[in-house]
Amino acid sequence: MDLNITFEDLKLTRQFLNAIQDLGYTIPTTIQQKAIPLIRSGQHIIGIAQTGTGKTAAYLLPIMQLLKYPQGDLPRCVILVPTKELVLQVLEQVVLLGKYTDLRSVGLYGGVGRKKQASDAVSGVDIVVSTPMRLLEIYQEEGLDLKKVQILVMDEADRMLDMGFRPQINAILDVLPRKKQNMMFSATFSSIIEELSWDFMDFPIKIEITPEATPVETVEQRAYLVPNFQTKLNLIEYLLKDISLNRVMIFVKSKGSANRIFEYLKHRIKGEIRLIHSNKSQNARINSFNDFREGNVRLLISTDVMSRGIDVSAVSHVINFDVPTVYEDYVHRIGRTGRALNEGIAVTFVSKADEYHLTKIEKKIRMPVPIFHLPDNLEITETPFEENQSMEKEIDEQKKKEDPNFQGAFHEKKDYKLKQKQKKAKKVPKFTGKSKSVVQKTVKTGLKTSKYNRNKEK
Ligand code: AMP
Repeated sequence: MDLNITFEDLKLTRQFLNAIQDLGYTIPTTIQQKAIPLIRSGQHIIGIAQTGTGKTAAYLLPIMQLLKYPQGDLPRCVILVPTKELVLQVLEQVVLLGKYTDLRSVGLYGGVGRKKQASDAVSGVDIVVSTPMRLLEIYQEEGLDLKKVQILVMDEADRMLDMGFRPQINAILDVLPRKKQNMMFSATFSSIIEELSWDFMDFPIKIEITPEATPVETVEQRAYLVPNFQTKLNLIEYLLKDISLNRVMIFVKSKGSANRIFEYLKHRIKGEIRLIHSNKSQNARINSFNDFREGNVRLLISTDVMSRGIDVSAVSHVINFDVPTVYEDYVHRIGRTGRALNEGIAVTFVSKADEYHLTKIEKKIRMPVPIFHLPDNLEITETPFEENQSMEKEIDEQKKKEDPNFQGAFHEKKDYKLKQKQKKAKKVPKFTGKSKSVVQKTVKTGLKTSKYNRNKEK
């Protein structure tokens, strides 16, 4: 980031400079420095940037400056995002950054009645922020006219494709005017993302903010090898005795586990706790999320529905209750902390069945995740027979994946291996220790110590 470039240098008009000032932003982030001038000059853009980099304002500011003031009834800008939570967040930024303009915006998302959203969308609007599915429904069923769209943004494009929105995206691209300014943002740049860009962008300029899947630099990563579910619960309870864990997100693979964690912790920890997953109603999700964001809730337990693009600043700690098997999700999960120049800590609990996935993640992020000793006085519960069997089965599956000739080895002494690894792990004096001293305690995790860590050790 070039600290000498100011928002004034990016030739934003007074109404936006005032809004930025009200928000307390002092310097533009790297993606803002790069993208704002290009978008203002009408270029097509592919932005490879994680959430937390300030990418939303990077596209909203120049777009709103281009749209200037309300005009006609039909939308001139469409922003597609994967989830309703993101619709609401982007919309919030539209409102905050557009505070001194009269631009009109609307958010469209599933799970609530279509009629009201449709009537808002057709009664005069400049910017539509929507999930692909809902935009298509309102276009097809409610007659939203998209022929005046001049700007299209696909935000979190990788996530939209992961979620299977390609058919809806294709249908939307078919009905939007061919001649318009196109932008696409994605945390990673894969071949399918590239193919998608060929479908609707001519000669885009690619801006890459961090190398693919590099965790944001301000996040310190830690892992604990934990033998089973109950011990993971004991460990969370133990860690949460430390009051510096004041705004914590816990990510969990399944809804069932999320419910169990919630039930276990709700009477055992200090502070408010909320649970978010796709079985919760839209209103419950939004309320929990807002309570957490406003700082009224200490602990938010969530499945991956919520891991991407959720804009909560000052999350003190992210705890991965398990290792995500969609490896990009690891980056998204830990990206909730260490946002916009704050330091954060991301802790991952690794069972023996998770170790395989952790190794894959380490390869992807090109750095080891340091493993820490379990606290001495932590209660280690014995692994129930069924849980052990199911982990052994998972490990067999993983081995088969790596070696199709593998016959299965249920009898292997994995607990022994885990204990050996645990012995090698270094101790951390205090959970909240400052990042430098902790990074120095990096232990080998199968990968060579990366350049990243070597640099930090100096
Ligand atoms: P995003 O990457 O768009 O999800 O933004 C992450 C967070 O950074 C949001 O909370 C923004 O409000 C905040 N943010 C965006 N631009 C800046 C900036 N120039 N300075 C400080 N914070 C910013």
